[in-house]
Amino acid sequence: MRLLAVFLAFFISLIQCSKYHPGLYGNYENILVSLNNENYKQILFNQTSDILYFVEFYAHWCGSCKRYAPKWIDLAQQTINWHKKIIKFAVLNCGDPLNGQTCGEFNIEMYPTVRLFPLRANFSPPLHNAIEFDPEEKDLFIPKIINYIEEVEDKPTNWPSLEPYRSSNLNELFINSNFDQKIAFLIVEKEEESLIGREVILDLSDQNVTIRRTTPKVNPKLLENFDLNLERLPSVLVIQNNGQEKFSYISIDLKNKSSQANGDYRKVMYDEIRRYLHIVPDFESSTLVKNFTSNLESFTNQNNNLTKASMNMRDLETGLSTILRYEIPHFNVIQGDEFVVLKNWIHVLSKFFPGRQEVRNYLGNLNTKLHKSEKITKNEWLKMVNENQTSDSFLPEKSEWVHCKGSKPDFRGFPCSLWTLFHTLTISQIEYENSKTKPFDENFNVLEVFESIRTFVKFFFRCSECSKNFQKETYDYLEHLKQPHDAVLYLWKVHNRVNKRLADDITTDPAHPKIQFPSRELCSVCYNETGEFREDEVFKFLSNFYSGSKMVQALEKFSISKNNFQELKSENELILNHENSSKKNHSTYSMYLILLAISVVGLQQL
Ligand SMILES: Cc1cc2nc3c(=O)[nH]c(=O)nc-3n(C[C@H](O)[C@H](O)[C@H](O)COP(=O)(O)OP(=O)(O)OC[C@H]3O[C@@H](n4cnc5c(N)ncnc54)[C@H](O)[C@@H]3O)c2cc1C
Repeated sequence: MRLLAVFLAFFISLIQCSKYHPGLYGNYENILVSLNNENYKQILFNQTSDILYFVEFYAHWCGSCKRYAPKWIDLAQQTINWHKKIIKFAVLNCGDPLNGQTCGEFNIEMYPTVRLFPLRANFSPPLHNAIEFDPEEKDLFIPKIINYIEEVEDKPTNWPSLEPYRSSNLNELFINSNFDQKIAFLIVEKEEESLIGREVILDLSDQNVTIRRTTPKVNPKLLENFDLNLERLPSVLVIQNNGQEKFSYISIDLKNKSSQANGDYRKVMYDEIRRYLHIVPDFESSTLVKNFTSNLESFTNQNNNLTKASMNMRDLETGLSTILRYEIPHFNVIQGDEFVVLKNWIHVLSKFFPGRQEVRNYLGNLNTKLHKSEKITKNEWLKMVNENQTSDSFLPEKSEWVHCKGSKPDFRGFPCSLWTLFHTLTISQIEYENSKTKPFDENFNVLEVFESIRTFVKFFFRCSECSKNFQKETYDYLEHLKQPHDAVLYLWKVHNRVNKRLADDITTDPAHPKIQFPSRELCSVCYNETGEFREDEVFKFLSNFYSGSKMVQALEKFSISKNNFQELKSENELILNHENSSKKNHSTYSMYLILLAISVVGLQQL
């Protein structure tokens, strides 16, 4: 019976794991704590824990997060021995809709966001007393963490002291110790501010040994007793307690060893101290990072030739749903300039989104409701986007990516759908004008769609690097947007510049190389004899490729029907629905159930 319970627990845990998106760190659970909607409170706000948490909030679809991931892994690896007693590195994938509510509580506005959670943090959204770190200042993380650790009040008793050793009596090295030990180590550095000694103390914090640090300035009296060459610091004194206030010592000269280790004193000290503790050195920080990169590089190139030829309305609807239901609600309150941008964006969507009638009705209703307000809270927004849907006015939740499907779950997806939505809107603006009896009259504003896209990206696209780059890459839009077709072609050119910049980047799906679009295979007439683009032909091609009416026809013919519509009454229900659908979609889920059934039958027969 006990065996059966163990099996059941095992299978249930597999099912639990499988419902979350694997994210970017699936292979690193040995060094990174994976937070999610269900476990984050218990981990971050555990009132009996002696561990700090350093958390990266990211989205699996965000290119800058993918580029950031090896750095985060490297940092976690560099501090691996601190994880046991002092600080753990953790990750939370805000790109997974199941974590949407949680990331909203944390008010995550940009990816990646990095925060340090204090000991026994109180649950007090959105910041929970956490300290925000600038992700770009990665090189300062370790010094900042060390300073923070030093300043923690009421430190747990099992944390090592990072304070310089000031006593002139060696006894205290042993008296203060929690361990029954004969040996202690004293790191002697030139400057009190030096980081190396503190890093090494933390690197060895998982060992039952006292290691302290000091400097000739801080403790001249004590150091007089040792035969130390102060010109050759840093140095390590191995001090043996022989009892009855008698001590012997060895001074380890690190200079020679450090030249063999390229001046890496941290590694040399660590290895030497471990040697004296009779532990074989094993400090190799770069292995995991190398694995990570080669994992990314080794994905098979399934389709090297073409970007798929058709655009798909399901991708646009899923992208739209992601924006409205998961991205925008990360703000607790939207007001001021941001609210103006939001209103404008919804207005543009309601006017130009070329989807099926039900979705357009939905956007129209949203636009009307929003125009009555001056600001909006997250809950009001969620209510607005999820409630009061009818069979004539709805936005489907999420479905599988079609055109934007990557060869692995963390490739393509949402950012791809954003680009396609933006292109579709610029084309739709032209289609809208052409449907009028007097197209392109004095009321036509070529900036209307593009400016709305630009400001939306600025305030609401939480891939911070993408958002900043897009502002830079489009700084001159006013000079270029004069004629009716200019917005379409300008956005096309900007996107191609981004494609060029990212062509060899590790974030690019090898099965979908970033090409100058459209390729010759997609549009041979788009190229002239010298291989340059013919913009009039490109415009025609884009008008066809991003034609909303064609996408809707294809959608009605092949895929989602009204029957798939579910009325969503609340945020919880929304998440529940997603859970249900993602569970249903998971082939692994049914596989586990089959395995479970087999094992139960097998056990009963035992
Ligand atoms: C506004 C914005 C800025 C971004 N900035 C960055 C950044 O700075 N750094 C970063 O790492 N990632 C950035 N990204 C993400 C990146 O551009 C891709 O979206 C992501 O890598 C997924 O690429 P993908 O292969 O799906 O193709 P995407 O580049 O997303 O393209 C989607 C689809 O658009 C079509 N397409 C391609 N090029 C064009 C074109 N020139 N004109 C019209 N249609 C085209 C193709 O059918 C393609 O499949 C940004 C995304 C957006 C929306």
